[in-house]
Amino acid sequence: MTQNLVTSVPAQVRAVSGRPADAATPMEVWQGLSAAVVDAIADDWYATQQKYRAGRMEHYLSAEFLMGRALLNNLTNLGLVDQAREAVGAFGQDLSQVLEQEPDAALGNGGLGRLAACFLDSCATLDLPVWGFGILYRYGLFKQLFEDGFQTEHPDPWMEDGYPFVIRREEAQRLVRYQDMTVRAIPYDMPVTGYGTRNVGTLRLWKAEPVEEFDYEAFNSQRFTDAIVEREHIADISRVLYPNDTTYEGKVLRVRQQYFFCSASLQQIVDNYVDQHGEDLTGFADYNSIQLNDTHPVLAIPELMRQLMDVHHLSWEQAWDVVTRTFAYTNHTVLAEALETWEMSIFDRLFPRIAEIVREIDRRFRLEMASRGLDQGRIDYMAPLAGGSVRMAWIACYASYSINGVAALHTEIIKRETLGEWHDIWPERFNNKTNGVTPRRWLRQCNPRLADLLDEVTGSDAWVKDLTVLADYTDAVDESVYDRLGEVKQANKADFAAWVASREGVEIDPEAIFDVQIKRLHEYKRQLLNAIYILDLYFRMKQDPGLEVPKRVFIFGAKAAPGYIRAKGVIKLVNAVAELVNNDPVVSQTLKVVFIHNYNVSPAEHIIPAADVSEQISTAGKEASGTSNMKFMMNGALTLGTLDGANVEILEAVGEDNAYIFGATEDELPALRQTYDPVWHYENVPGLKRVLDAFTDGTLDDNGSGWFADLRRSLLEPSYEPADVYYVLGDFAAYREKKDAMAADHADQRAWQRRAWVNITRSGRFSSDRTIQDYAREVWKIEPTPVD
Ligand SMILES: *Cc1c(COP(=O)(O)O)cnc(C)c1O
Repeated sequence: MTQNLVTSVPAQVRAVSGRPADAATPMEVWQGLSAAVVDAIADDWYATQQKYRAGRMEHYLSAEFLMGRALLNNLTNLGLVDQAREAVGAFGQDLSQVLEQEPDAALGNGGLGRLAACFLDSCATLDLPVWGFGILYRYGLFKQLFEDGFQTEHPDPWMEDGYPFVIRREEAQRLVRYQDMTVRAIPYDMPVTGYGTRNVGTLRLWKAEPVEEFDYEAFNSQRFTDAIVEREHIADISRVLYPNDTTYEGKVLRVRQQYFFCSASLQQIVDNYVDQHGEDLTGFADYNSIQLNDTHPVLAIPELMRQLMDVHHLSWEQAWDVVTRTFAYTNHTVLAEALETWEMSIFDRLFPRIAEIVREIDRRFRLEMASRGLDQGRIDYMAPLAGGSVRMAWIACYASYSINGVAALHTEIIKRETLGEWHDIWPERFNNKTNGVTPRRWLRQCNPRLADLLDEVTGSDAWVKDLTVLADYTDAVDESVYDRLGEVKQANKADFAAWVASREGVEIDPEAIFDVQIKRLHEYKRQLLNAIYILDLYFRMKQDPGLEVPKRVFIFGAKAAPGYIRAKGVIKLVNAVAELVNNDPVVSQTLKVVFIHNYNVSPAEHIIPAADVSEQISTAGKEASGTSNMKFMMNGALTLGTLDGANVEILEAVGEDNAYIFGATEDELPALRQTYDPVWHYENVPGLKRVLDAFTDGTLDDNGSGWFADLRRSLLEPSYEPADVYYVLGDFAAYREKKDAMAADHADQRAWQRRAWVNITRSGRFSSDRTIQDYAREVWKIEPTPVD
């Protein structure tokens, strides 16, 4: 680090704003400060790239990277926060106001995309030679607003005003060829700084552009629309994250997108191999491994076959040998219906050569399995092709040397069920890599008060790079630390209350218990169970005005997929419950409900440090891992959860006294379902009838949508579909009991903060540094490669 921000920032601000720094807007100051940061790391970034490309590398392919904001993260990692504050303060700007100007790079949906972002942070911090590859979507995940309590979706053109943290690399462009068009793939590189290291990693995001800047011929011959339509058709490829695929044309676009970034990334990886190691591609897998983050990048498998055979003249056998030593696949879901399949006709239309290769993979797979003695039924079930569809997960399982789940329970379930047939044949390919989150963003950066306390208690900031050191301090602390922890939480809650008041227009009391459920809206995550609890508590308080209830704020944040009506119904329901509770002159003295709109990475950074209770209440067996559970734990919130995903391992780490666990377990559920009758619960569990009737008796208003009646039916009517598939009513009584007890326990602050402290100090194994070290050692076989 040669530059000093105090001297470099004013020049950068003048360059972007065209006026003196003290006349610039906060947005211009954000631009200038960000440019100064990129300037400060440029030499190290280049040196890191040169160093990595010479040795063995890992390539992380993902359709999603939910990066969030970059500036504060970079300043934190580089140790430049104070300098930045001074630099902008010198011309009258407040750093936190400047930071709030930055849009979130929301190039992902939720957990899977955020995991990819945390992984890049850990790889950079650990000096590991890893590149990320994805797509530069012009529009990230939609921006969510509420209108009358209904979710509405709006475009999020996140880099329209200029974004200094991606650099266009014109010279490294590649051509991606489809049957009907050839497209330029232009890389945009984002630097990924690590904490306390000079290494700077790279996220390469591809943007689609026409080969010819503009079709003058068409334009000049008056075919104006032809010229424009063709350009727009190409721009569609990197326009939006997960285009609607309910139509055939929508599916074609999705497959086009997937091939686009797989082909461009592989061309670069293969070219680099040739540059560094020569034309003999049989050694490719000695220097390269590729992690497939779910099935979205699985087209990389036939595409690498194509490049090895058609461009570099390997035989099928040689190419397949390379491929099967190169790819590793991460599964993210236990739901068989969520595994991607595409019509073969799409492949035939877009890239006949890839289609031909997939057919040959299928043919050889069938021969191999027959020779292993598998019966025809099983071969048909597992084959890459069937009934005119390509099964992406099966191609991944067949071609990958490693297949992993993302939490211990999840890996057991995929071995037994989701991918059970594959596990029977290749048990040695399967392994678990429990997810993690980066303690830089999710503790050091978002919770500076707690970070300072940890520095003080441990005597250094070593925990930021090795979170496991905190385990030494679980017991060996002065009791006063619990009081200090309580003060930190209280101050964070006061900040958060001010943020909520200005962002959502709701007043909340920082003395209340902050009970938080933030995650994508899905039936299996059971936000509905939480809403039912709140409504039941409301009725209990109305019925018995003398009931002792601790002050609580129930906080939600969630986006629903635009076509997922039932999930949108739950959003509307929570907003209706908020309306009812917050406007009741008596109950609102004790309870408040807040739905934070447009939940995203940066709101999460405001919410999590202020949380007391972390709601992790999915139906057991359905949540692969969860990662917000880890972020909450690290920030001293106590988990209220089912034995699902990584909750199981959190419980193992903190012990039963330091978490609140309830509900049916994954191994109990099959037997319970045999006799499960939700109507019985509705009629016999005290309070449930009153709550579910309130969905439709006029207590709650769904503005005539019929959505609340649908939610009620989804829980009660067997004719509708199997009633209450997610066992909401079955788990309700246990949930209520635990949640009531938890709220009562909060009154003893000493004991509560002691439990919070155990959670914080035992969160080491949920650092993504641990996850990445496991991948590096057991799957990727790469070594730390510091630049010197
Ligand atoms: C961590 C995170 C998630 C994942 O949350 P889960 O509760 O694990 O599903 C989703 N979205 C954002 C913005 C996150 O930061």
